[in-house]
Amino acid sequence: MNPASDLTVPFRRGACPSVLTPMPTGDGLLVRLRPRAAGLAPAQWRTLAQLARSHGNGILDITARGNLQIRGLTAKTAPKLRAALDAAGIAPRSGVAIETPPLSGLDPSETADAGPLATALEAAIAGCKPPLTLAPKLAIVVDGGGVLSLADMVADLRLDAVRCADAVRWRISIAGNAFSARPVALLDASQAIKEVLRLLRLLDARGPAARGRDLAGERMDDPAWRPVSPRPPVGVIALDDAFVLGLRLPYGQVDADRLAGLADDLEELGVTDMRLAPHRALLARGLAQAQIATARRRAEGRGFCTDPDDPGLALSVCAGSAGCAAAKLDTHAVADALRATAPTLLDGTASVHISGCPKGCAHPARASLTLVGTPEGTGLVLSGRAGDAPAAVVASGDLSAALARLDAFVRRERRPDETFSTLYDRLGEKPFETAFQGRI
Ligand code: SF4
Repeated sequence: MNPASDLTVPFRRGACPSVLTPMPTGDGLLVRLRPRAAGLAPAQWRTLAQLARSHGNGILDITARGNLQIRGLTAKTAPKLRAALDAAGIAPRSGVAIETPPLSGLDPSETADAGPLATALEAAIAGCKPPLTLAPKLAIVVDGGGVLSLADMVADLRLDAVRCADAVRWRISIAGNAFSARPVALLDASQAIKEVLRLLRLLDARGPAARGRDLAGERMDDPAWRPVSPRPPVGVIALDDAFVLGLRLPYGQVDADRLAGLADDLEELGVTDMRLAPHRALLARGLAQAQIATARRRAEGRGFCTDPDDPGLALSVCAGSAGCAAAKLDTHAVADALRATAPTLLDGTASVHISGCPKGCAHPARASLTLVGTPEGTGLVLSGRAGDAPAAVVASGDLSAALARLDAFVRRERRPDETFSTLYDRLGEKPFETAFQGRI
């Protein structure tokens, strides 16, 4: 029996899974957890691994937005997980998702610590009377900048710290990332909270499906502010006299034993906390410089990536047939094949998405290139979402050959020093579609 079939917790389409509302997936119920504490001690990670093993199927994900997911629960085990998290002192966040950079308050290069404003905003939203009814997937980013800023994270509402002549102000923008969202105001912290509450009340009045993109309003002129893309949260990050080691999970997923082993290794080397980060990463704090090389070696020995130049960082990959009944594709095997046969597509200059089905869980936004599982075979979507109509479809058995053709095409056509992205911009989509299908 599919463990999701004994689900008794109602799950509304369009809702977000949480500890209180697990979501049925192909491998049972999935719980998404946003711990209230920024960092958890290695012992707490061991507890999470043990709970994933005893109440779920032992598989954990870290999502692109830096949330933890525990997979393979049942209607019987999900409440037990909730109680065990309580007992372990791992309190989940609830309410509107307010996201801050993972090193807020620790990063000397940030413009402002986003934490206090995020906490004040959370309290202000919780205190609204009557309570606001907002879209379950509505997200607010409070971004103080820094090496791991959330400039590339899409949100319904963004508050970005901007250094003005006399003080830090918060730039409020709507529907997008720092580069694309529409700026509407530049305010101090207390005014910013009032303005965000005003915008949320407008959304509340429009109904529970309303999102940031539904808000009207004049675009503010702010020519002086230029967001900067963050570095990948992988590898060694120096913070004044402290070091953080960023680790990426292979395809965003890890089994409980490997996670517990990592927590053991890092604790032995001095790590005091491990925190979730966007782009499916974990940040380990507390290492002395002398221990970093050993920590990297041990983490890599357990399958974690610590190389910020790893070509796999360009990839977004969902659970696929290894963990989801909806999948028409073994996404992890396709990702391995892509790395082996078409490394030119993974030079990090373009986004590549592998999706088990058109739902596109791992990368809801557009990607330069998407491989998507369909009943007919593997589809290629160019400059679109997994749910868009594929430009070409190949039978699953022909996929490796199609990827090798794409790689050969890029090598042949690329000018010296040209990246995959600039080649793609220069030639357009059609030749890539043709090469994938083997018509040239
Ligand atoms: S995109 Fe499809 S196959 Fe992948 S996890 Fe989501 S529902 Fe499952």
